Amino acid sequence: MTAAMTPSLLQVSDLKVRFCTADGELQALRSVSFDMQPGEVLAVVGESGSGKTQLALALMGLLAENGSASGTAMFQGHDLLSCGQARLNRLRGSEMAMIFQDPESTLNPYLNIGRQMSEVLEQHRRMPHAQALQVAEEMLHQVRIGNPRECMQQYPHELSGGMQQRIVIAMGLLCQPALLIADEPTTALDVTVQADINRLMLDLRERYQTAIMLITHDLGVVAGLADRVLVLYAGQTMEYAAVRDLYRQPEHPYSRALVRAVPQLDSQHGAGLQPIPGNPPNPLQIPSGCPFRDRCEFAFTDCTATPLLRPARHGGQIACHLETLPE
Ligand code: SF4
Repeated sequence: MTAAMTPSLLQVSDLKVRFCTADGELQALRSVSFDMQPGEVLAVVGESGSGKTQLALALMGLLAENGSASGTAMFQGHDLLSCGQARLNRLRGSEMAMIFQDPESTLNPYLNIGRQMSEVLEQHRRMPHAQALQVAEEMLHQVRIGNPRECMQQYPHELSGGMQQRIVIAMGLLCQPALLIADEPTTALDVTVQADINRLMLDLRERYQTAIMLITHDLGVVAGLADRVLVLYAGQTMEYAAVRDLYRQPEHPYSRALVRAVPQLDSQHGAGLQPIPGNPPNPLQIPSGCPFRDRCEFAFTDCTATPLLRPARHGGQIACHLETLPE
């Protein structure tokens, strides 16, 4: 799916993530491959436990101590999985940044916003303090904080959840990274603030040409935001497609179930909404064969063998034994 002649910003191949737990080895990701172009928005979608957050943490070198990653993840000439902590520390914050669902996990409650933001620039860009304060204030303006100067003096607890998340986005973009990983950035916010933050991320993508990896369990937020979608289930790629293709004609039963679970604007009170029956498998006991088969209405005898990722009709990729998804 890589566009011809366009060098990828990020090229992930055969990424596997494992955790050693008291109950045995947990495979959070099992051979995931994809690429991202400069300025692209890639949505990584899946239910809880699909491995999407571990994907982000593996790329950022932030896996828990009992976790390990293998494969390659080439980013600006460096393999993020083997380049070492010193290189990763330099890349994090300057070339790649991550924002989390909960702004409180990013913001320091004991420092005012101006101090927190200016420190990022002083540390990663070696910027003099006065200039860093100026740039931080301008970035608060960019994320549509009404009174940036006053906000610089405030502490996180004095700000609403929506304001805090805008500030986290501003901090993530301060060094104008080439890649921003946003893990459920709006889940904790109310719907109007969610829409506002999503618009804001798109504006900033346009302005800074930042590629955004948007991690979400909700396919509904992806439609107006992403260029491509990577659908994960039980740590494996189910479908990888342009967003318009995935919405119009998903080729994998799981993707179609996700699309049908999205409330439509024209539906009344959730009418037509079809939640996916059943639950994802226990990550410690993923069955052999297709991991979705216990929930798949089209499962047949071949599905006891693991389906390999193959080209789909829409030009993307799917992992399913069905030749054609019935209507
Ligand atoms: Fe369903 Fe079989 Fe396709 Fe899995 S491989 S999604 S069980 S039809």
